[in-house]
Amino acid sequence: MNGARAEVVVDLDAIAANTAVLRERVGRPLMAVVKADGYGHGLVPAARATLAGGADALGVAVVEEALALRAAGVTAPLLAWLNGPGEDVGAALAADVELSVNAGWGLDEVVAAARATGRTARLHLKVDTGLSRGGATPEQWPDLVAAAARAQADGEVDVVGLWSHLAYADAPTHPTIGLQVSVFEQAVAVARDAGLTDARRHLANSAATVALPETWFDMVRPGVAIYGLDPLGGDPAAHGLRPAMTVQARVLLTKRVPAGVGVSYGHTYSPRSETTLAVVPVGYADGVPRAGSNRAPVLAAGAQRLIAGRVCMDQFVLDVGDDPVEPGDRVVLWGPGTDGEPTAQQWADAVDTIHYELVARIGGRFARRYV
Ligand code: PLP
Repeated sequence: MNGARAEVVVDLDAIAANTAVLRERVGRPLMAVVKADGYGHGLVPAARATLAGGADALGVAVVEEALALRAAGVTAPLLAWLNGPGEDVGAALAADVELSVNAGWGLDEVVAAARATGRTARLHLKVDTGLSRGGATPEQWPDLVAAAARAQADGEVDVVGLWSHLAYADAPTHPTIGLQVSVFEQAVAVARDAGLTDARRHLANSAATVALPETWFDMVRPGVAIYGLDPLGGDPAAHGLRPAMTVQARVLLTKRVPAGVGVSYGHTYSPRSETTLAVVPVGYADGVPRAGSNRAPVLAAGAQRLIAGRVCMDQFVLDVGDDPVEPGDRVVLWGPGTDGEPTAQQWADAVDTIHYELVARIGGRFARRYV
């Protein structure tokens, strides 16, 4: 562990290899989703790794993320899709960032910025096909595409994408998938009739990329699978994916205690016999969920064991029995699972969340190391 107290180790080759596996599988352009600090793996290094693996474009949520990539010298096509009112659209256009538009007011802001800067805005129009989140409703869509087609004819915008997002891609037989695909196809037809003929259609997130070829259209848009996590909640190796993140810390302190002592806040754990406790210096301020108290597994001294008692802000405790654990020994919270450590999926099951949330929130005082 190079002496670090606590570190998130990111395997960039795994990110590149996962990208290549997915790109090869779909045989068409792939937009790698690197929002939220590359799902906790590091925005710029993750982006570069996906590009090394053959990603054709990058997707982020907010313009600030896109500008950070540009500032780091990343020149790949780049879409930022979560644009609110009053956004600095001019800065996005100046940095050659593609923007998503959900509604007429969003288009108006982009057109105004295009006029003010003399640049043509590259846009992806989003239709809400059934997630009821971003995108124009099918009722609003004809007006939006008509306005976009006029702006395109005037040279203010270039509509390069038509897109939507699925509600149930992780349940590949769910009936809403077919419905969303059909609403999407109708929306595309409306846009094409309005003259938006060159835009790429994209709909598929990771789950759809691995399981639903009928959603691939002109480009796929995977995130979590790029980082080697199975979007369907199973074994990523089944899709040729390798988890890129390992989360580990060094034992801070060990102590022998008698049976029956109360461990950590509220004494929710007590050893049945004399034992050794090991204190691990990471906690919920670092993104280790407090819900892992007495429930989440870690690897220590060659065995998986549950966290003993409550996870605190900066530390948690393990009961390592009579095993030889010393200060400085490595404890692995989660990793690829190939050396006996728990996986992010195991953690997610233990704390009743999804692996997305775990990797995206890990941080705080963990150092990040790239290998
Ligand atoms: N597209 C959009 C609009 C998203 O919000 C996300 C992530 O939430 C993705 C694609 C990638 O999703 P996933 O990580 O499930 O592949």
